[in-house]
Amino acid sequence: TESLLQKSEKLALLGQMAAGIAHEIRNPLTSIRGFIQLFKSHLLKDEYFDIVLSELDRINAIVSEFLVLAKPTAAVYKESDITELLNDVVTLIGTQSILNNVEIAVEYETNLPMVSCEENQLKQVFLNLFKNAIEAMPNGGNIVVNVRKKGAGQIAIQIIDEGIGIPKERLSTLGEPFYTTKEKGTGLGLMTCYKIIESHHGILDIQSTVNKGTTIEIILPSISQTLLKIEPIKM
Ligand code: ADP
Ligand code: MG
Repeated sequence: TESLLQKSEKLALLGQMAAGIAHEIRNPLTSIRGFIQLFKSHLLKDEYFDIVLSELDRINAIVSEFLVLAKPTAAVYKESDITELLNDVVTLIGTQSILNNVEIAVEYETNLPMVSCEENQLKQVFLNLFKNAIEAMPNGGNIVVNVRKKGAGQIAIQIIDEGIGIPKERLSTLGEPFYTTKEKGTGLGLMTCYKIIESHHGILDIQSTVNKGTTIEIILPSISQTLLKIEPIKM
């Protein structure tokens, strides 16, 4: 059970996040409002409609990422084949990777154990990580996905890119809400990944070298391990 301290820490974090969301959404809203006023007075050219649209897209992206986090209460865990799940995500991201000259190669070890997971959440994690990997290679390149068994009934999934990398002093900032180096970034992708992997009793680890690339490793417990983690019913 949760201690009072853990509860108050969670509430504090929730307050910080709420303030962050409000701030991030208010910026594009203020800009949209300004443009609409100008439209009303016929002072603005049509091309500015595109800015309004992209500001609306930004709000939509922020809200969508938070919805993923808000859902875990209704999460349905089921026994899943991680290779199938990854293949689905690779197909989903296919067009985007082709358009960016990025090739994705998958290497799966045979006889991998099943994992207990909320499939949509895990797909969201891999989608976010592939998107980041693609965005880290503006001139194209390769992404390698490697899945293998790890000791004590775990599965290790690596997503390796050869992109711009992340400076060492920035590694500890990753996962903080709204940290982004991209003009159109939300800075919510990695935070969502960390939260989802944590709720799956897994670990997410990031290693990176500037101008060489980034490796994200996710370790998930297999089914047999997850069963051990389910708390016994108290009578
Ligand atoms: P966003 O993609 O919207 O910026 P994320 O939370 O997904 O937000 O990522 C936060 C930041 O972490 C990115 O802006 C980028 O600076 C860095 N980052 C994440 N993944 C990678 C990667 N594969 N290669 C280089 N930098 C990365
Ligand atoms: Mg991202």
